Amino acid sequence: MKLSRSDCDIFIPNPEMSAGLTPDAALARTTHLCVIAHQDDIEINAYPAVAECYGRSDKFFTGVVMTNGAGSARTGKYGHVTDAQMQEIRKEEQRTAATLGKYNLQLQLSHPSSDVKKTGNPGVAADLAAIFGGCGPALEVVYLHQPADKHDTHVACFLRCIEAIRMLPRDRRPARVLGVEGWRNLDWLADTDKVAMDASPLPELAEKLVAVFESQIAGGKRYDLAAMGRRVANATFFASHATDTTHAISFAMDLTPLVQDDTLSVADFTLRHIETLRADVAGRLGKMT
Ligand SMILES: [Zn+2]
Repeated sequence: MKLSRSDCDIFIPNPEMSAGLTPDAALARTTHLCVIAHQDDIEINAYPAVAECYGRSDKFFTGVVMTNGAGSARTGKYGHVTDAQMQEIRKEEQRTAATLGKYNLQLQLSHPSSDVKKTGNPGVAADLAAIFGGCGPALEVVYLHQPADKHDTHVACFLRCIEAIRMLPRDRRPARVLGVEGWRNLDWLADTDKVAMDASPLPELAEKLVAVFESQIAGGKRYDLAAMGRRVANATFFASHATDTTHAISFAMDLTPLVQDDTLSVADFTLRHIETLRADVAGRLGKMT
């Protein structure tokens, strides 16, 4: 496997499960692929995909982190850490999570977020072409950031991925693409537009996977509590029948139309969901007055 940056990280977390597979072979057998901005975004936002593949011999989760994590906030114990050191710390945390979660393959592309934020960066484009093109017919679902996220880097990563998938011949494109919560949840989607993913299996693993990212939590940002809390809140405040079967849900937006129709504008597609919310609120208010 050839990725564009010399500081990238190609990691097969549990070699005993991979029976000597090369990274290319591991990528080719991927069934669940998550391509996301930062170290910890998989574990906070796409946990149901990890859980679905955990310990399975017929489902394989591959995680891809696009940026190098250099710009992350740091205080307390990590206050003195340089950008270069922080990148190494975060890379190692991601490896630990991948090992704990028994991922099939973990790729860290190490791009500066400034390179991801503009279209046409050759290194970013080449890496994404290699990754999406390197998956085989086993690929069932791709998890990306969702387009209404409020973090610029998240949205940029999502856009670069849609561009890369649209470059593939139609018969090589993923059958299903989902956008996960991040720096904006998806509670506001109409219930009929929500993809509710069960986040309740293996609760101890779910907590450990977020707690691994100590460098992010140490400064006082309790991502560990917030991630679990959001899942519980999603389940509790969703339709009542859902709480009968699960107490933890992560929501996703179905992005599949964007990779089936190259003429569909991302902005139009996204704003249509917001129009649905607007119509729902206006309709309810109108009915009661
Ligand atoms: Zn992030």
